[in-house]
Amino acid sequence: MKIKQLYIAAIALLGTGALTQQANAQLLEEKGKFTHADTLRGMLTPLRTCYDINYYHLDVKFDIDKKFISGSNQFKFTATEDFTKLQFDLFDNLKIEKVVYKGKEVPFTRDGNAAFVTFPQTISKGSRDEFTVYYSGNPTIAKNAPWDGGVVFKKDSLGKPFVATACEGVGASIWWPNKDHLADEVDSMMISISVPKGLKDVSNGRLRKVTQLRDGYTRFDWFVANPINNYDVVANIADYVHFGDTYMGEKGKLNLDYWVLPYNLEKAKKQFAANVKPMLKAFEHWFGPYPFYEDSYKLVETPHLGMEHQSATAYGNKYLNGYLGYDMSGTGWGTKWDYIIVHESGHEWFGNNITGKDLADMWVHESFTCYSESLFIEDNWGKAAGQEYNFGLRKGISNDSPIVGVYNVNKEGSGDMYPKGAVVLNMVRTIINDDEKWRDIMRGLNKTFYHQTVTYDDITGYISKQAGIDLSSVFDQYLHYKTLPVLEFTKTPDNRLLCRWIAEAKDFKMPIRVKVKGGEFKFITPGTGFTPVNLAGATKDNIEIDTLNYYVGVLMD
Ligand SMILES: [Zn+2]
Repeated sequence: MKIKQLYIAAIALLGTGALTQQANAQLLEEKGKFTHADTLRGMLTPLRTCYDINYYHLDVKFDIDKKFISGSNQFKFTATEDFTKLQFDLFDNLKIEKVVYKGKEVPFTRDGNAAFVTFPQTISKGSRDEFTVYYSGNPTIAKNAPWDGGVVFKKDSLGKPFVATACEGVGASIWWPNKDHLADEVDSMMISISVPKGLKDVSNGRLRKVTQLRDGYTRFDWFVANPINNYDVVANIADYVHFGDTYMGEKGKLNLDYWVLPYNLEKAKKQFAANVKPMLKAFEHWFGPYPFYEDSYKLVETPHLGMEHQSATAYGNKYLNGYLGYDMSGTGWGTKWDYIIVHESGHEWFGNNITGKDLADMWVHESFTCYSESLFIEDNWGKAAGQEYNFGLRKGISNDSPIVGVYNVNKEGSGDMYPKGAVVLNMVRTIINDDEKWRDIMRGLNKTFYHQTVTYDDITGYISKQAGIDLSSVFDQYLHYKTLPVLEFTKTPDNRLLCRWIAEAKDFKMPIRVKVKGGEFKFITPGTGFTPVNLAGATKDNIEIDTLNYYVGVLMD
């Protein structure tokens, strides 16, 4: 997620990206208007880099009637330098009861959604230490999850509580205290959620223990054995029933665990059986082993549409194919499978395994995952089908602000990171022109950056290096600028055909497939100065470019 509601509304209602364009125009306007609070939230300051988070134990009770939560989070960390003060994050509508260090309360201050703890002694570089934050309050209620964040308090059709958390973008500190920056992930985590008796909680990882508490609550302890980003940490509370299956994958036996509302059990069995194993087969083929075998693969029915909660994918697609029944590509290929199962699970590789260090690089999550849909189609119905779907995604592109967002202020880029990102990746594959190499690159990304957080340069640099082609100006143009490069053709007085690229990216150079009408495609590699089109017999009238796979403008002088 969260492929914009705006985006789907725009396509469904208007047939264009008009609403997305509005949103993107707003994004542009907002540039340069960031606040102190945005910096506290988005910047890796010394008060955050002084400690490396190793482990959280989040222990929270949900009083659903009062929409009230209370509990604690234990922070275990390694000091990366000597320090006495650090920052953690918790939305200011939630009360910090106390911060406890070595059995004693220590002083803290708050500045908006940031909190600062001062320790009684210097914590020395290299030492492993811990503190615990106790907190409570009425968390922000998400009115329109997953597009806004917070806690969803709904009822199922039988009137029983149906509760979920969702906080991508806004951040996990909307409901629990943590170091709320994408760059730092714990190595493992315990999530203990207490719920009124009769209900169940499903969180990430594996269920270790269920404890009946004296106050009428039941506590569910879930252990996550792998690094996890904060926004993936989830509480899902309902009258769930469970069913399971296994998948023999690249790393052996993978447990598949499904948690759904009891009255949807039969529908769920059918829909999950039809989609999950084909998805795992396609993605393990293209991206390598599912990254979290130790934590199992799960789908959890939620009162919102969906989210990539690691090893506990949120599912709210109403057991329909497509995106709530809708084909995002308009080609017919988009309704042959369940969009939420495929897309959100794609994030296990891109988003959860490989996580952008800064929200500005959310395209690392969404561009690759949106592209994974084309690869899923290719694995099931062939390459041409995948390309057709990918081409169809263009109708969702608005091209009015860059895909890369603003660094250090927790600001993601344009919603174009979904469809345009997917289209660009298909184009890069076309440039590389070697499907085995492309697959090696997809798998290599997941292996090289396994369970890591990454930057723009990490990802684009890796692809260029493995491809053996300098693609830096291609990524620069498509990710940092809103406009498309234009291939301009002209002719000399003696009728020789010339071409060049017009682009904003410095020294833009992109190989492109062209042919003389009726002939075979061949690559030419224009730069920004006019050079002859090295293709026998080519004229302005008979030259064709591979517009199925290239997303460019063309200008004939
Ligand atoms: Zn997504």
